[in-house]
Amino acid sequence: MAAVTPEPVTQLVEAFAQLPGIGPKTASRLTFYLLRRPAEQAETLANALRDLKQRIVFCSTCFNITEESPCAVCRDEGRDRSIICVVEEPLDVVAIDRTGGYRGLYHVLHGAISPVEGIGPDELRINELLARLKAEPVEEVLLATNPNLEGEATGMYLARLTSDKGIVTTTRFVIKWLAVRLIRSALTGVVLLNHEVSALTSYKKQFSESTRTW
Ligand SMILES: [Zn+2]
Repeated sequence: MAAVTPEPVTQLVEAFAQLPGIGPKTASRLTFYLLRRPAEQAETLANALRDLKQRIVFCSTCFNITEESPCAVCRDEGRDRSIICVVEEPLDVVAIDRTGGYRGLYHVLHGAISPVEGIGPDELRINELLARLKAEPVEEVLLATNPNLEGEATGMYLARLTSDKGIVTTTRFVIKWLAVRLIRSALTGVVLLNHEVSALTSYKKQFSESTRTW
């Protein structure tokens, strides 16, 4: 950026450019867009960013995002405490919970094992999960990591760790995939095809009734 550009502009362009999926061009476009807008719009954005870091914390039990720890799911007495669904990201909790077919607890890993990106088990909330399995009356762990190489490797790693604790480990990659599709459809306003809805319903049935040991 040329020296004629005022410092606050350069700062914001650089801050935007550090976000995933935003290159220097988009960062500039967003910055100049905000410059043209009323001051209130920039203030709303600034307040939202500040609140995000000040008011949102990770649940001390399941590591989902929450305003109050433990989170609403962990506090909910109506939940089945014998089953923990392990997911990679907080958005996965929203996706699975929205199907209405699952009433157990969650555990958010915050990523998946990826040797390429230098992410090993110690970078994830795996030790915290193992501590929960020791302390809580868990009988089943539902592995709902992503249906890709990293997600499946993470699932297999967790299955090995949990199997010697006498805990049933179940995989539901298909459920997860359908649930994510469902929430994306809801967000984009795309209506699901009938066969997708019935597939989800039948998997939901299996989801609550069956288990498959690794
Ligand atoms: Zn929680």
